Amino acid sequence: MDRSTLTRNILIGMALGIALGSILHAIGLADDNPIMVYLVDGLFDIGGKVFVISLKLLVVPLVFVSLACGAANLGDGASMGRIGGKTVLLYLATTAIAITLALTAARIVDPGTGINMAMASDFTAPPTPSLKQVIIDIFPSNPIDAMAKGNMLQVIVFALLVGIAMAKCGEPGARIKSTLDDWNEVIMRMVMMLMAVAPIGVFCLLISLFSRMGFATIQELLAYFFTVAGVLVLHFVLTYGALIRFLARLSPVTFIRNMWPVMAYAFSTSSSNATLPVTLETVEHKLGVKNEVASFVVPLGATINMDGTAIMQGVATVFIAQAYNVDIGLVGYLTVILTATLASIGTAGVPGVGLIMLAMVLQQVDLPVEGIGLIIGVDRLLDMMRTAVNVTGDATVATIVARSEGKFDEDTFNRRDLPGTYNI
Ligand code: ASP
Repeated sequence: MDRSTLTRNILIGMALGIALGSILHAIGLADDNPIMVYLVDGLFDIGGKVFVISLKLLVVPLVFVSLACGAANLGDGASMGRIGGKTVLLYLATTAIAITLALTAARIVDPGTGINMAMASDFTAPPTPSLKQVIIDIFPSNPIDAMAKGNMLQVIVFALLVGIAMAKCGEPGARIKSTLDDWNEVIMRMVMMLMAVAPIGVFCLLISLFSRMGFATIQELLAYFFTVAGVLVLHFVLTYGALIRFLARLSPVTFIRNMWPVMAYAFSTSSSNATLPVTLETVEHKLGVKNEVASFVVPLGATINMDGTAIMQGVATVFIAQAYNVDIGLVGYLTVILTATLASIGTAGVPGVGLIMLAMVLQQVDLPVEGIGLIIGVDRLLDMMRTAVNVTGDATVATIVARSEGKFDEDTFNRRDLPGTYNI
């Protein structure tokens, strides 16, 4: 199957999953109905879970191998430092823009006025790690442990060190590098094999999710829901569109066309981490970003850059403040921008983690953490949408950095007969 057929099939799988799932939900079959037991909770649930597990399976090996090779290819510390600096700066800047847009929109819409406080029920705050601990935890004491736990930042640090050392130690380094290059090819091929079954995986995930998803709470939270959704779209179109157009000097339309499948994965899995193999494959083979840049910028972004999540947190903070009738003032809003931007560092891109980070943000501005109970009912759907924005942000920054470093292939970016065969 070629790439455009795959993209089309993924979108069909998505549409069918959402439509059939919503129909099943509307019919309201009992839990012990055979369709629910054998299909929705049986076949489709198994299919969806195995699909996500298989994506996750590839994350650690892919990040390690591809980043070690990328770092070794860069060779000198100076370009690595420059790329690292630009990446972190762009990640922080885009997140700050995202949350500022969110706070502004929420202040205009006022989604939290007249809210029924009885809904704020049983959400208890998780313990908040200190900034000091977050920094210490970036460094691994045991690479195997870091890989086993899927601690992305620690895996990134280890891979960078291996890559730098490989580049520095001549013959032995070159030998290991050539083996890792081969591994990189093999694991990328596994990603492509898995992508071949994505239409089915995405269908299974979405049909089981939508047949269970209650939309009742959305009605009570329409203003909140649409403010978050609206700002997600705004940030996606305006911020990323402008960055791709003016900083990368490329067509935003082509960019989005190339990114569709990745967004579909992110939407279906609600996890930037699980989507990572596909993001990396697309950023390299479809957007045209060279491995040296992609292998560093994309995994880092899946962990530390969450613009969509920051948008939810901005709107949610205003919403909860209004629901509880608290004015957090200008200093409060600035604190929200700062904390939400920092909170995303060191938190893995997995489903629902945005709410846990929101607890940290609320605590910083002395808002009641139980307020999260107010919005939890609509968070599943918003999580899917914001994860799609999160991964697009990573790809946007990777494209800009690669372009500015001359590590970009414009022909690949513009190519319509998309490269790559996807089969199992
Ligand atoms: N699910 C999001 C992600 O993986 C994080 C979140 O906002 O909960 O990027």
